[in-house]
Amino acid sequence: MIEIKDKKFIPFIDSSQLDERIREMGKEISENFNGKEPIIIGVLNGAFMFLSDLSKAISVSAEVSFIKISSYQGESSTGKVKQLFGLEKDIEGREVIIVEDIVDTGLSMSYLLETISEKKPKNITIVTLLHKPEALIKDIKIDYIGFSIPNKFVVGYGLDYDGLGRNLAEIYQLKTD
Ligand code: 5GP
Repeated sequence: MIEIKDKKFIPFIDSSQLDERIREMGKEISENFNGKEPIIIGVLNGAFMFLSDLSKAISVSAEVSFIKISSYQGESSTGKVKQLFGLEKDIEGREVIIVEDIVDTGLSMSYLLETISEKKPKNITIVTLLHKPEALIKDIKIDYIGFSIPNKFVVGYGLDYDGLGRNLAEIYQLKTD
């Protein structure tokens, strides 16, 4: 068990589970993008660690870029999404792969889809490490999901609690009892 600020967290997804699943996802993505040159767009800050490992597991030559939005404070989603800095690259006609740490309500992802679609990419593929199906309120088609998890707060491997915990190598779940 670990403590971050006032909360206790218990181990949830360990390094070997992450490694194995990310390798599988990379393999599938590589097969589906064989002969193509996608642009992989990571969503900062949360996806930095996942994107780092996933991009190494993708064998096709790809561009890597980042977008940053802020949508979350403390423990629950505010529902407000706001772009902080975006994509300066011309992505018109390109195959875009959006990489997120977690899709919770889906509000951030649907905002991103709208914003990125305006730049007329050829298509958009959505990859998320974690997905909370019970929390989803926006109807989004997610192409690759690492792990579907219960609707409980998680930290580590890029995900934070009030700014802390992103550096943890494994994923922890809020201890509720
Ligand atoms: P959504 O817009 O889908 O509700 O939320 C997406 C964003 O909320 C994620 O990119 C992430 O930053 C944050 N988020 C959602 N659930 C969790 C969680 O369990 N833990 C942490 N640390 N962040 C979360």
